[in-house]
Amino acid sequence: MKTVILATNNVHKVSEISHALDFPGWEFKTLREAGIESDPVEDADDFLGNARIKALAAHEASGGLAALADDSGLVVDALDGAPGVYSSRFAGEDATDEDNNAKLLADLADVPDDERTARFVCTLVFIDEDGSETCAHGTVEGRIGHGLQGEGGFGYDPLFWPDVFDGQCTLAEVPQSRKNEVSHRGNALRSLRFKIEVAEAKKAF
Ligand code: IMP
Repeated sequence: MKTVILATNNVHKVSEISHALDFPGWEFKTLREAGIESDPVEDADDFLGNARIKALAAHEASGGLAALADDSGLVVDALDGAPGVYSSRFAGEDATDEDNNAKLLADLADVPDDERTARFVCTLVFIDEDGSETCAHGTVEGRIGHGLQGEGGFGYDPLFWPDVFDGQCTLAEVPQSRKNEVSHRGNALRSLRFKIEVAEAKKAF
């Protein structure tokens, strides 16, 4: 068995990641499940930097096991890329999803429809036992609505209208499986899976 430490304790991410990377012989453990203490300061100014900080910390704290971390957020064009890496604390250090969504709506109050373009971004960093690093990125393009719509998902989902849904619904109005097919995290995971498969095939030669 190859154990991969997931640098998260978010159960939703754990199930999505273990589904997407269901390689034979691989098992995923959260930091908590592996009994590892790792809570590094995420002070990079981009998603890749923060994902790398988390993956490296988990790799080192586990004594050199393979580790995988993700960092994600919402990038709004009319706000010059905000909230970006500050997505989870946009409305303040202890902000809830409701607080963040309210601030986003307030900040965009005077912004017309055609300027409400945005994207979710996800970056994954995988560090193998030998220290080699593989990165993958995924995005989903869309627009920010004028009010909350939908009960599913989390974070900014009820405000996000993916282009691929053609104005029919927000990310909070589809089942998780449909969200995974189009989401930034789903796209990043598909890209990472492909890169790992290529690397394994090269090793087998
Ligand atoms: P993290 O990568 O889990 O730290 O996510 C950072 C923040 O970005 C979250 O707290 C959410 O506010 C936002 N975010 C990331 N992914 C999603 C998503 O799939 N839907 C809605 N919000 C998201």
